[in-house]
Amino acid sequence: MKTLKHLSILLIFITATVNAQGRFDNVEIKTTKLSEHTYMLEGAGGNIGVSVGEDGVFVIDDQFAPLSKKILTAIKELSDMPLKFLVNTHYHGDHTGGNENMTEAGATIIAHDNVKKRLEAKQRDGSFKPKEALPVITFNDKLNITINDESVAVFHVEHAHTDGDAILYFTESNVLHTGDTYFNGRYPYIDLNSGGSVNGYIEAAKRGLMVIDDETKIIPGHGKVSNKEEYKGFLTMLEALRTNIQKAIGDGKTEDEVKADSSLTKTYDDLGYGSGFINSERIRLTFYKSLKATKS
Ligand SMILES: [Zn+2]
Repeated sequence: MKTLKHLSILLIFITATVNAQGRFDNVEIKTTKLSEHTYMLEGAGGNIGVSVGEDGVFVIDDQFAPLSKKILTAIKELSDMPLKFLVNTHYHGDHTGGNENMTEAGATIIAHDNVKKRLEAKQRDGSFKPKEALPVITFNDKLNITINDESVAVFHVEHAHTDGDAILYFTESNVLHTGDTYFNGRYPYIDLNSGGSVNGYIEAAKRGLMVIDDETKIIPGHGKVSNKEEYKGFLTMLEALRTNIQKAIGDGKTEDEVKADSSLTKTYDDLGYGSGFINSERIRLTFYKSLKATKS
């Protein structure tokens, strides 16, 4: 019986592994040039930023492990130089799933302190990640990376999408990578269970907007390449939702009432913001929960 049980567990494991692989079989990596030496790569999961040049290859985020080979092939088409640094914008698996493979490919991983804390903790399935999947260099507030003839400002924004978010600005290329503190044209996922908050998320968008100009190309965490005008529109949406839902809370509305009241988000629902991963009901619920928890 014991063997039979083990066998069925093994079969479940194999099926799950095959499915996980299958999910990525047809994913193609699309490369978009943003400046003379910076690119955005799209596959499945968070958008990847790449800088290439005489110092080597610098990558931001790495999607899922089964895609690493395809991602590294796409990078090889841009440069033959060695992989040097990888920054994780936060700890979520669709941005860090390839970490172990990237370390094996030569990268030194850099991230906020809390990204390391979350990656080295016991994972949901009870396992622990190997040290190759963890950041080697961590920072608390900000750091600068000088690579490929420019300074890249990496700065932490507090309690935004998670408690370990970083935004990166390429000062010469004029390219901003926001991580998941910006979902282009969509309601964002704000991970309240991992230290994210509505107020912090809004502050993050303000910080990001502060460092850029009208010519800046923006790599959002999810969605198409963006610009300052769209990013400003995103901030306007967040602030409008906060105003509406804060008022509903002030009026004594319950969680269920806010969840059901589509008038609170209608303007932006009509613009298609709810058509992504987070629909209009979920964003109302997130705002309610986060604002309710904040003493105002
Ligand atoms: Zn995320």
